[in-house]
Amino acid sequence: MINFEYARASDVPDAIRQIAADPTAKFIAGGTNLIDLMKYEVESPTRLIDITHLPLKTIGETSNGGLHIGALVPNSDLAYHPLIEKRYPLVSSAILAGASQQLRNMASTGGNLLQRTRCFYFYDTATPCNKREPGSGCSAINGINRINAILGTSDACIATHPSDMCVALAALEATVHVAGPAGERAIPIADFHRLPGDTPQIDTNLAPTEIIVAIELPPKGFAANYSYLKIRDRLSYAFALVSVAAAMEIEGGRIKEARLALGGVAHKPWRKAEAEAALRGEAPDRTAFARAADILLRDARGYAHNNFKIGLAHRAIERTLTQAANGTPQVQAIKKIR
Ligand SMILES: Cc1cc2nc3c(=O)[nH]c(=O)nc-3n(C[C@H](O)[C@H](O)[C@H](O)COP(=O)(O)OP(=O)(O)OC[C@H]3O[C@@H](n4cnc5c(N)ncnc54)[C@H](O)[C@@H]3O)c2cc1C
Ligand code: SF4
Repeated sequence: MINFEYARASDVPDAIRQIAADPTAKFIAGGTNLIDLMKYEVESPTRLIDITHLPLKTIGETSNGGLHIGALVPNSDLAYHPLIEKRYPLVSSAILAGASQQLRNMASTGGNLLQRTRCFYFYDTATPCNKREPGSGCSAINGINRINAILGTSDACIATHPSDMCVALAALEATVHVAGPAGERAIPIADFHRLPGDTPQIDTNLAPTEIIVAIELPPKGFAANYSYLKIRDRLSYAFALVSVAAAMEIEGGRIKEARLALGGVAHKPWRKAEAEAALRGEAPDRTAFARAADILLRDARGYAHNNFKIGLAHRAIERTLTQAANGTPQVQAIKKIR
């Protein structure tokens, strides 16, 4: 057992003060990822700063017609919030595709963004891993890499980001609001997570002394034509091998605007403006969808065990875009038993 101190933050400035005063401290929200990492001795913070009592649990409309989501809103509350279900069903669908009801009850919105990779070697301290121990090597590149990335990889790391919610947030172009010693700033979701490059130990562009306070969704939710499809080894309680968030606006039988993001394939939700531009002005048919998939996957590279993901992603993109265009989104199992 590695000892650690526990402290409770009284408000956001106090949380920032506490984290800035101790570089080995970590915030704890739902604890559904951090506690596991501590049990495996992958992370060993000397101090946990409990942020669960901070007033960051509300969801409200913004003056520009968007939605402001506090960082401590539980994943379940977010998925079932009436405004999310009605205006941003893509977010609801992505969240309900993840984890289990119990986990979603505990997991927070902010924590979901910062959950760490599920690469097997990252959790196995007996093996080299550049993300866990910079400079030690990557066991996955020549090891068991079935669940690893096919896009945006580097020679140092081929891990994926495991979140479902973030894939929907990427497609909708959400903004992450953070606060730190220098004040508040807003980070577009596309710039929040990083590619591994030669610093795979750094997952995001959040500074170690900053706290996520909220997520903001823009007014456009694409509620009429959207779908989130998650392909995994089991129907529930499993991370994505490949997931697709698709959203579009159709006018006069043509695609006016399209959004397409992939999960389970890269160190961050994967989007490419060129793939979405290729859909604009086209009839929503299989030819257009296959072309968008070709563009989005153009730079994909498989490793010994995950080459199958390239073809799987191609078919998943076509299917998800078809569901979105037809207004027949993928129904998550949990919806049926609710
Ligand atoms: C068995 C299992 C299955 C799962 N399946 C899925 C799945 O299929 N899809 C999916 O998307 N997720 C899945 N998850 C992951 C789950 O969604 C995340 O663990 C959860 O969202 C993390 O939120 P949390 O509040 O518990 O974070 P914590 O564990 O409390 O924290 C995680 C990290 O975020 C930091 N942190 C938390 N809040 C803030 C904040 N506001 N500001 C700054 N730093 C912060 C913490 O310091 C820590 O580093 C699964 C988890 C488990 C255990
Ligand atoms: S892929 Fe990344 S997380 Fe996995 S072993 Fe290699 S360096 Fe570690």
